[in-house]
Amino acid sequence: MDFSLPEEYVELKKMVRRFTENEIMPLENKVIEREASRGFKDDPVLLPEEEAVLKQKTKDLGLWGIEVPEEFGGQGLGALAKIVVLEELKRSIVPFTLPPDAPNLNFLQECCNKEQYEKYLLPYAKGDISSCLAMTEPNAGSDAAAIQTKAEFKNGKWVINGTKMFISFAPKVDFFIVTTVTDREKGKKGGFTAFLLDKGTPGLRVAKNVNTIGEMLAYEIVLEDVTVGPEQVLGEVGNAFIPLQNRFGVRRLEIAAWCCGFSDRLIKMMIDQANIRKTFGKPLADRQSVQWWIADSTMELHACRLMLYHAAWKVDQGIKDVRMEAAMLKVYATEMLTKIADRAIQVHGGYGLSKEMPIEFIYRLARITRIIEGPSEIHRWVIAREGLKNEKPYNTFGINF
Ligand SMILES: Cc1cc2nc3c(=O)[nH]c(=O)nc-3n(C[C@H](O)[C@H](O)[C@H](O)COP(=O)(O)OP(=O)(O)OC[C@H]3O[C@@H](n4cnc5c(N)ncnc54)[C@H](O)[C@@H]3O)c2cc1C
Repeated sequence: MDFSLPEEYVELKKMVRRFTENEIMPLENKVIEREASRGFKDDPVLLPEEEAVLKQKTKDLGLWGIEVPEEFGGQGLGALAKIVVLEELKRSIVPFTLPPDAPNLNFLQECCNKEQYEKYLLPYAKGDISSCLAMTEPNAGSDAAAIQTKAEFKNGKWVINGTKMFISFAPKVDFFIVTTVTDREKGKKGGFTAFLLDKGTPGLRVAKNVNTIGEMLAYEIVLEDVTVGPEQVLGEVGNAFIPLQNRFGVRRLEIAAWCCGFSDRLIKMMIDQANIRKTFGKPLADRQSVQWWIADSTMELHACRLMLYHAAWKVDQGIKDVRMEAAMLKVYATEMLTKIADRAIQVHGGYGLSKEMPIEFIYRLARITRIIEGPSEIHRWVIAREGLKNEKPYNTFGINF
């Protein structure tokens, strides 16, 4: 068994760490200031011109499309390489994402037909156009099969009506992947259809922004008699549920990578503070409570990183079904970050709570990760259900006892 990271990935990791520290982290104070002052507005915390510079620099460094297959103009390095890069980028709170957004790419790759391949997949894979996923609704989030947005086939066209809630990036994107119900009786087993809707499609509008904790912005989208041809169906009519679940799996691994990156940074900050800060004549590093916070955080990060790299390695072996690993990671990584951010605040005392440091920012951001892409309770349910159904615990190496 070889646990070493391939040399080229080690170099990649070092390069992204340098980039994050030299180019991204210097923007953090501005991000904190803008987030604190925007109130209910949706002003970006990373300005478009700052984002454009970062995009160009990461493109020059060859960081775009790392996991994108070579046939789509990417580098075809796979899931582990992408995770390694994301973990380093997410040592910073600056909300910078590398194009293309992998989970939607995964959905497109699985479902696009020839025409859609040219119009959406190729430019998307190259990072020339962007998208968002519009699934959640005012009355359906965790329970994706309970959505109400309806698509009806009338006179050779699909007519879509409904409301979507908490949709990230909505005003910025070129196209939307919208999930709908086409057959209520069949539900997720044959009645669930996805559509590709271009920005500006008549009847599709971003109704309002819904600001949430942290820097993340979400939007409400209204679809009123949006009428499109059959060429806008993504995948087979009625069969969008499985590709949607596969898309979520990719994002869950990415969220775990964010959590590892933030946690790594926070542990380093705890160590530095423990060595520098003296109370009652002794450094905090000499206090057992502080040592235990550092020890517990170190153990948890180590365990999480092994789980994450293992899951990414499985994806790279061509194993498509990593639902169990993704569910375990989503719970473990997000709850780990919650605990580590809390300990980091405690070690730093008042400074930990102040906006002069990124710790309170990460603390708030951590809270979101336990809800988005499925709350922890749903993932625990998935994990338990699998064990109960098979009447045996998960086996890391797939050995059939
Ligand atoms: C900042 C932000 C960005 C987002 N971006 C997007 C996006 O781009 N696209 C998109 O489609 N959605 C997006 N979402 C929506 C997000 O995915 C949902 O909020 C999430 O899936 C939870 O759904 P819900 O809010 O409807 O909660 P609900 O489904 O109402 O669940 C509420 C709570 O009930 C409990 N619960 C529910 N079911 C069970 C169960 N079976 N067992 C035990 N407990 C249960 C859980 O504790 C859960 O937290 C975003 C949300 C936020 C906050």
